[in-house]
Amino acid sequence: MQEKYLSRNFDIPNAHTLEVFEANGGYQAMRKAFKMDGETIIEEVKTSNLRGRGGAGFPCGIKWSFLPKESDLPKYLVVNADEGEPGTFKDRYLMELDPHRHIEGCIIAAWALGIRYGYIFVRGELQSAIRRLEGAIKEAYAKGYLGENILGTGFDFDLYVHPGAGAYICGEETGLIEALEGKSGQPRMKPPFPAVVGAFQAPTIVNNVETISSIPWIIEKGGEWFASMGVEKNGGPKLYGVSGPVVRPGVYEAPSGVTVRELLEDYAGGMLPGHELKAFIPGGSSCAVMTPDKLDSQMGFETMREAGSSMGTACITFMDTDTCMVRLAARLAHFYHHESCGQCTPCREGSGWVAKVLDEIEAGRGRMEDLDLLLDMCGNIEGNTICALGDSIAIPVRSYVQVFREEFERHIEEGCCSFPAWSKRRKG
Ligand code: NAD
Ligand code: SF4
Repeated sequence: MQEKYLSRNFDIPNAHTLEVFEANGGYQAMRKAFKMDGETIIEEVKTSNLRGRGGAGFPCGIKWSFLPKESDLPKYLVVNADEGEPGTFKDRYLMELDPHRHIEGCIIAAWALGIRYGYIFVRGELQSAIRRLEGAIKEAYAKGYLGENILGTGFDFDLYVHPGAGAYICGEETGLIEALEGKSGQPRMKPPFPAVVGAFQAPTIVNNVETISSIPWIIEKGGEWFASMGVEKNGGPKLYGVSGPVVRPGVYEAPSGVTVRELLEDYAGGMLPGHELKAFIPGGSSCAVMTPDKLDSQMGFETMREAGSSMGTACITFMDTDTCMVRLAARLAHFYHHESCGQCTPCREGSGWVAKVLDEIEAGRGRMEDLDLLLDMCGNIEGNTICALGDSIAIPVRSYVQVFREEFERHIEEGCCSFPAWSKRRKG
């Protein structure tokens, strides 16, 4: 196991307090950053190959360089802490157990980019994360790390926590911005990207929690150090979530490029006794499903794409041979249908129809032609919507039908689910 950085403070009692955080080296990166100019910091972040940790993997330094240098409008930092992707639970660890490192990252980003105001938009259900962040922000203000003329630098930066109201779509950055402005969280067309027109129509950098929490390490140890730890184009230490019937589910830190097998066997202790691996999704429910022959795939944005899926949020859900893929696909379709904001017809109507067809198959009333109908519907949704939620139903459902087609056909031929746990439950 490698040395820990992002999760270093997770096991230190009271590391969420300013006193303990500083006793363990906290806020030293901020002091170092105040001696650097913004351009140098942006270059360091570019060198680090830090890729967006929210799921899409856009290079952080490049995104930062899109922010206009001169602007009559105030610039904003918005942290996307609306962690809601099914199976994803890493950012809440950073907010609950190491909130000051996150605040330190926000201050460094704001200093580098000339940003005056920052908002951490936290998923409303994550109440303890909200409380920890609010407590830490209060401490940082009292110590002069936030507010006006921070540490006598002449730099002013205010940071606020904004709780979300429980809609998955507010995790999409422009839906989040709409919600932050007090409107319903309906995504905007892109371009323009938020870096140019974002919150309150002003230039805005939207970064994920883990992305920002990585910044102090890049400043402290350098962009080259960060880049050297990963696979090509994917720098740094990273948090990985592991869930499902495994011995030690949880959040683990490992370098970019760690294999799925290493995460399952070395970190999570393997499958629980008596449970055989059937499939896994590498980074949240919007990824294509993968089978055990792909266990040696490396966790990186390009490497996972080459392996036939995507790294997404890097929180892997493992499934055993008792998992019914028809039922799983139906549950996912219902989730996305429920969370659709309703602006685009393919997403609003298509997700409902996909869910209905899957329900029929699951209930034993499916027809063989429904399988191609499902693939056709997915093809009509994908790429034809304002935001990625449409793709998030099409990509996984298509993959379940394609990879486990025989299982879907068996449901239709037998008129029921052949997995004992589910068929018993339905009859009961
Ligand atoms: P995206 O590829 O459209 O954008 C990624 C980021 O790069 C955005 O911040 C965008 O503004 C920026 N960007 C892209 N091109 C740009 C350009 N030309 N100029 C300036 N900025 C540019 O992806 P997305 O829709 O933001 O995110 C989709 C991902 O979100 C999915 O992969 C999914 O895994 C993930 N997701 C995560 C969660 C979670 O809880 N963490 C929830 C839902 C979805
Ligand atoms: Fe709304 Fe779905 Fe369109 Fe996204 S794809 S804007 S969630 S209707």
